[in-house]
Formats: sequence, structure tokens, C-alpha cells
Amino acid sequence: MHEWAIAMSVVSSVEKWSTEKNVRVGKVILSVPSLSMLEVEILREAFDVIKKDSKIADAKLEIRLRDQEFSCRVCGNKFTLGDIKPQLEQVLKDYGEENPLHIVPALITAFAKCPKCGSNDFDVDTSIKVEAIEL
Ligand SMILES: [Zn+2]
Repeated sequence: MHEWAIAMSVVSSVEKWSTEKNVRVGKVILSVPSLSMLEVEILREAFDVIKKDSKIADAKLEIRLRDQEFSCRVCGNKFTLGDIKPQLEQVLKDYGEENPLHIVPALITAFAKCPKCGSNDFDVDTSIKVEAIEL
């Protein structure tokens, strides 16, 4: 996937920030949605390689998983994975070990509905955010 592109943009934006503020970065904390298809180990490896040629060569990377969020395009309701867990448990029951969500989390809109209005037209938040920077 696009782990290397993500690592590249994280390093360059943090580097730019640290140059502007004239500070030395000790740690970068990234937050990643829990349903992301991201390979955390590849991201970490990419970060370590890319940072070597940057001004944040000593910075460590911490990756935190955050509760997956969704927002309904019909009623605007925002909800999390926990809110639709009962619906997903039904899928697990129907499909057992071979449940399709285990293989392709993006399929979630095919199996779950907005808890408020029942629409399955909702956005899955896939953004990778720099949550904090420690000096
Ligand atoms: Zn809705």
C-alpha cells in the first residue's frame, strides 16, 4: 500500500515544522484509524529509512490506533466501530472465520448501517494524523 508515501509526507511536514520552530524533535506520535489497512511495521521501517536524510534523524515514531470513526452522508450522524458492533457480530456469526470484513475492512459499508437513520451511505475515516510531537 502507500506506507512509504505516508512516511515521506510525515517526515517532511514534521521536518518543516521543526525548522520553523527551531526545535529538535524527539518523538512523532501518529494516530491511525483501527480499521486501516496500513501495515504498521512497513510504515515504521519507511519512517526510519526516510528520516535518516532529514533534520529529524533522531526522532522516534509512535503509532497509536484510534477508534474507527464513520460519518453518515444522509443524516450527518458520526459513529464509531463500537456503535455498529452488534451489526458486525451478526456478520461474524453468518460467515464465521471466513468473514469478509476480516479480509477487506473497506467492505464495512456493505454490511453495516448508520445506527441513526439506517443508511449504508457513510464515510469511513481513513486519515492518518500527526497527533503530537514530543521534543
Ligand atoms: Zn444516518
